[in-house]
Amino acid sequence: MEKLEMLYEGKAKKIFKTNEANVYLVEYKDDATAFNGQKKGTIQSKGIMNNKIASIFFKLLEEKGIKTHFIKHVDDRSMLVKAVQIVPVEVIVRNIAAGTLAKRLGLEEGTVMQKTVLEFCLKSDELGDPMINNYHIAALDLASEGEMETITKEALKINDILREVLDKCGIELVDFKLEFGRTKDGEIILADEISPDTCRFWDKTTKEKMDKDRFRRDLGKVEDAYQEVLRRLEEAIPNA
Ligand code: 5GP
Repeated sequence: MEKLEMLYEGKAKKIFKTNEANVYLVEYKDDATAFNGQKKGTIQSKGIMNNKIASIFFKLLEEKGIKTHFIKHVDDRSMLVKAVQIVPVEVIVRNIAAGTLAKRLGLEEGTVMQKTVLEFCLKSDELGDPMINNYHIAALDLASEGEMETITKEALKINDILREVLDKCGIELVDFKLEFGRTKDGEIILADEISPDTCRFWDKTTKEKMDKDRFRRDLGKVEDAYQEVLRRLEEAIPNA
């Protein structure tokens, strides 16, 4: 597999074309940003850890029947993925109140939701990813009604699968963000990444944060937290 020209550089990843049609190479960087790019920094070896953690999650989800863009883990920082057109809607799944939900609704961080909460945000750095609903999505033609049904069902299934495996790791899945894409055949599949950059992970016993909130909130030991998530996943999933 040959790595060809870069198609896109995001805050945490670079996407390259390859010599194979409809296959892209994703390279994970150590760069970290928060608060819509206002806070910038580096998390040592984050790219390596997130590439491995995302590969483990994608592989597990595929085994459980979820269609994802993941093809394979290639080396330390890169994975091969199916080319997709990203649906410009970020899907946020929340099991426990934290972050913007806690703030918006005046809930104490850690309040367990009686039912899983799904939120949609417009993927737009300029606008700061504003929250939208199915009416906005239809009015702006961001995705069809059928596509949103698939996205909603898949997001909830993904939540169940991730919660189960993370529970075995002694980790609570507080909330996370997903992005979906359309293949050239128009199929909706899970894309982007699942990692401590895009999820809130709390230790089940101590409630210690094991995710990017350590960077966002200057809590220290950021690398150690990512490493510990990876270690527990590798321990819980043999041959991960
Ligand atoms: P909140 O809305 O509380 O800031 O975020 C909810 C969850 O979605 C958190 O797990 C957070 O990491 C993730 N999330 C929401 N928006 C983004 C984003 O633009 N980038 C990343 N990496 N994660 C996000």
